[in-house]
Amino acid sequence: MQRRSRRLLAVISAVAAVAFAAPAAVAAPQEAASESELAATRPAFRMPFECGQRWLGSNWNGHSPGHSIDWNHYAADGSTDDYGRRVFASAGGKVIASYYSTSTGYGNTVVVGHGNGWQTRYAHLKTRAVQRGDSVNRGQKLGRVGKSSALYNLSPHLHYEQIHNGQVVVSVIQGVRWYDYLKRYQTSKNRCG
Ligand SMILES: [Zn+2]
Repeated sequence: MQRRSRRLLAVISAVAAVAFAAPAAVAAPQEAASESELAATRPAFRMPFECGQRWLGSNWNGHSPGHSIDWNHYAADGSTDDYGRRVFASAGGKVIASYYSTSTGYGNTVVVGHGNGWQTRYAHLKTRAVQRGDSVNRGQKLGRVGKSSALYNLSPHLHYEQIHNGQVVVSVIQGVRWYDYLKRYQTSKNRCG
């Protein structure tokens, strides 16, 4: 989601809520898995795009949820040409959700489960090509890049998350660790045969 101001407001609200809450009302933070624990089970995720396509990814400061990556594709003249490009599964698994969210900013969303607590989320899609319960192979089409969102007026991009045990984690894609707030180009090795 590319709306910084709303995120800042949300942060300020959250800080205020914590400040005024009684200590007993503050939930204990969940202990996150260590990087070595994550590395032991993380699937070999590929970029969710066609082989050879070069996309600019960014998990910008203030992005919600943290660690998410927004992907954009640019034409030779520098204009964006993401809209309608095909989105493919980063790894094989089972579709655990395919829906249009009216309560979050995700819009058309697909979530794929990969086992061992791992999931990937693909949001703001123009179209969805899979349904809950479908089995998908790595590189199988999930939908097309869009700008759908019930809450935000977006420019087209793919919002992408790697999730472990329900928490969005720092993505690792084709060996690249997408630490906060990395912004860089990466070329897809998905569907390269
Ligand atoms: Zn986003």
